[in-house]
Amino acid sequence: MGDVQAPAGLPAEMDAWVVARPGPMDTHPLESVRLPVPVPAPGELLVRVEVCAVCRTDLHLAEGDLPPRRPRTVPGHEAVGRVAALGPGTAGPPPGTRVGVAWLRSTCGECRHCRRGAENLCPSSTYTGWDADGGYAEYLTAPAAYVYPLPEEAGAAGLAPLLCAGIIGYRALLRADLPPGGRLGIYGFGASAHLTAQIAVAEGAAVHVMTRSAAARELAVELGAASVGGSTDSPPEPLDSAILFAPVGDLVPVALAALDRGGTLAVAGIHLTDIPALNYERHLFQERTLRSVTANTRADGRRFLELASVHRPRVTTTPYPFREADRALRDLAADRVEGAAVLIVGSGRGTV
Ligand SMILES: [Zn+2]
Ligand SMILES: [Zn+2]
Repeated sequence: MGDVQAPAGLPAEMDAWVVARPGPMDTHPLESVRLPVPVPAPGELLVRVEVCAVCRTDLHLAEGDLPPRRPRTVPGHEAVGRVAALGPGTAGPPPGTRVGVAWLRSTCGECRHCRRGAENLCPSSTYTGWDADGGYAEYLTAPAAYVYPLPEEAGAAGLAPLLCAGIIGYRALLRADLPPGGRLGIYGFGASAHLTAQIAVAEGAAVHVMTRSAAARELAVELGAASVGGSTDSPPEPLDSAILFAPVGDLVPVALAALDRGGTLAVAGIHLTDIPALNYERHLFQERTLRSVTANTRADGRRFLELASVHRPRVTTTPYPFREADRALRDLAADRVEGAAVLIVGSGRGTV
């Protein structure tokens, strides 16, 4: 991009982090770099990032569980910022508009999945921070049709985790087929789970949280969980639905065994360790269903952000200065983060 001029009034270079050498966090896979401020293509926006939340998928990318799709990509797909410039022929939103840039970056719009409203399954879909540079940077570009307008009244740090943790958790809740007033089990209680639990509680569910973290169990009780237990404990009643947020395949049979007849388990993560052998009688018979969750549609995102503006879930965040992005990921790898880690990138007013 060296021959392309940065839009007027913008700096030529910016601070960013790239995944330089995918591997365990203690081998320092992330590198802090200076990059040219990207130039928005036709249909794209240039967004000045204020806050980017840290998702477990960023960790999978840094550690190489998800193989890189291009070298030295800037991770991050929960970016809250403001439109700084529009690419040629881009219709809007105008500069200054507060927007969120999330995981789903583009889809083809033409394949059978896109045409039937399942654009999350589009084989040509691309993802922010994987196929294109993401939000661990002062600026990023994104197709205008895939960003979400965000309300002005909330703080950026509280909005950022909604963009993946919130949206994907909401899709997992839809995939778990929770009946009205039903009994929902949640396995693992990090960023996504604590948002999903609040939406489920607000909509009348009895939510049982199973997690190994004592701090997370305490938070779950504060947020209205009906019961809490250790990660392999049985909930006090059979479950209509369960969501596995922990990336731990060993918990699949545990959660399936906790389901009532006809219950559904949705696996929320993009990555899961191997699932041990299942016993048909104990884990699947009586029409129990095991489902995966793959990204989300824009419609899921819009519906969730609307629900969040009604129910206003409490978003627990742990802020990190931008220069300490690698520490945030190390803490996430070691399960030392309460709620969602958020990188404070820009100095926008009312950021935190
Ligand atoms: Zn498609
Ligand atoms: Zn994510």
